[in-house]
Parts: sequence; C-alpha cells; structure tokens
Amino acid sequence: MFELPEFVTLSRQFNETLQGKTVLKGTLGNSPHKFVWYNRSHEEFERLIEGKTVGNATARGKWLFVPLEPGYVLLLGECGGKVLFHPPGAKLPKKYHLYITFDDSSFLTATTQMWGAMELYEEGAEQDRQYVKDMRITPIEPEFTFSYFDTLIDDLATGKKRSAKALLTQDQLIPGLGNAIAQDILYHARLSPNHPIDDLDLEQRRALYDAIVHTVAAVIEQGGRYDEFDLYGNRGGYVRLMDKNAVGRPCTGCGGVVEKIQYLGGACYYCPACQG
Ligand SMILES: [Zn+2]
Repeated sequence: MFELPEFVTLSRQFNETLQGKTVLKGTLGNSPHKFVWYNRSHEEFERLIEGKTVGNATARGKWLFVPLEPGYVLLLGECGGKVLFHPPGAKLPKKYHLYITFDDSSFLTATTQMWGAMELYEEGAEQDRQYVKDMRITPIEPEFTFSYFDTLIDDLATGKKRSAKALLTQDQLIPGLGNAIAQDILYHARLSPNHPIDDLDLEQRRALYDAIVHTVAAVIEQGGRYDEFDLYGNRGGYVRLMDKNAVGRPCTGCGGVVEKIQYLGGACYYCPACQG
C-alpha cells in the first residue's frame, strides 16, 4: 500500500507529466470490486470530467488531490497498486479501476490493490471527506515540530495504552505512515514495536521524532519504496532495512539477528538486541 512518500512522489510526477493536459474522457473501472470506493456513477464521472484541465496535484497523508479545472478535484487515497501514466499508443492494462484519456492521446490508469478511494468532488468538498477532514499534522508539514510531537504523546498517554507501532500505524495519529515505513522508523529509533509510548523518556521521544522525520524524508528523496511503483511504472529507490528479507540476517546496527513477530495486525521485523 502507498504511504505518504509514495503519494508525494505521485503528486510530483503528476505535476511533471499531467498538469495542463485536457481530459477527453474519464471512465471508472472495468473490474470493480467492493473495496474500490467510488462516489459517482460511471455516467456522472464521465460527464463531469470531460474537457477539464489537470491542475497542480498535492499530497497529504495517504491522499492525492488532483484538481480537474474548473471546479472539481479527483481524490485518490488509502490505496496501493498502480497509478500509471501511459504515453500515446501504449497498451491499456487488462484491469483498471480508473481510466482517463487526454487530448494528446496519452492516458492514465489506476488499479488499486486491496482497497482505495477514487472519488470526484466539487472543489472544496473533498476537504470534508471522512479522514481528510480534521486530519492531524503530517510529518512533512512545518508544524510537525518536536514540541507538537511531544504534546501528541502526552495527550495519547492519558488515553488507552498504545505501543510505538500503534502510534505509527493506527488511527492516523501521524497521517501518512503505515506498516512498511514504521519498521524502519522503529529501527532507527531503537524501539521495539510493542514498546509502550507512555513510558518514553525525553531522549526516546526525541529519537522517535528524528527517526520519523528523517525516514520519511529519505523515502521521498528516493522516490518511494522499492516495493511500490511510481507513475511511470518504475520501482521506488528506497530499499527497506527491516522487511522480510532482513529476517535471520545480522542487524546492521549491532550484529544481532533480525526477527519477525506478528503484532497488531501485521508482521514486524526488528532486532531484539538493539530495539528495546
Ligand atoms: Zn541490532
């Protein structure tokens, strides 16, 4: 599934390649399944986006906002899979959940893995969508300061017990993070996934904050993770330190053996020797 760095990469590439193009025709999927979230009928979608121009795309959390001017915003979010640009003459993928052709005969397809939103809003209304509205501060915004993070942990510590992995992956407490990037963040912070956040001391909070900011920046810098594809069908350049390939291998930090555990709805890869 895409996480914040993949959405940021897509927004940059949309602006390089798609901004300014005019929509000839937009079609929803030819292979819909119940976990693709649409908010328009096929006819409505086609009618509303015909002749619109692609504006400046932006990413926030796990959402990509693509203005279709004038008046509309295409919202892709909480998805994985492939969002692909195709030059004129390219072959249309067999299955897709979104297919938009442009006046220069190039086209865009999106095919989500598992679930995801492909919705069209009147400009402004997208901000009222569930999960977009009231989204907390994301790690690439200037407001994501250590003081903000420190207060967030204080606030959460008074509620239900949460672990470091829960902080990074549940309830969009830090929007845009997910199970993949969380592994490397916890490794850099030297925290085990199940470390309770209510006993983090100042130094550990600082280490976790730094790990979040630096890891997100590193994945964005390298165009997303290696296990995801960008707008051009290329893999991202960021190879995770802690994933299934690391299991049984020596930890790059201390030489201990990397282990896999199942925790909070997914696999965690960590070094029990240096992640306490
Ligand atoms: Zn280690």
